Amino acid sequence: MNLKEYQELCRKTAKKFETREKEILTWGLGITGEAGDVASCIKKTFAHDNNQEAGIKENIGDTLWYAAMICNFFNWDMDNVLEENIKKLEGRYPKGFTIENAKRKMIDWNENELKK
Ligand SMILES: [Mg+2]
Repeated sequence: MNLKEYQELCRKTAKKFETREKEILTWGLGITGEAGDVASCIKKTFAHDNNQEAGIKENIGDTLWYAAMICNFFNWDMDNVLEENIKKLEGRYPKGFTIENAKRKMIDWNENELKK
């Protein structure tokens, strides 16, 4: 299965909403809930000696499902989103990860808007 097929399969299993606002709020809250479940399973596995690896794997899948639905909402191809992410990281770490390059003064997600 490629990412395009995955996004389409996610769409088929998603609830339909009356408004776009309700839809994106659901996907946005859903992804944080599932990411929280991943974190919780990691904590239980490593801090409580309670192996939750199956839960980590399942909830990674759930998190990606929400990521796919957010991409679907904005009509973004996940292939493109992932390619742009890798390009950004290759620019930041041209010779691979270094602590020096990881230290940035601030993260400015909307730098063009702030300059207006
Ligand atoms: Mg889950």
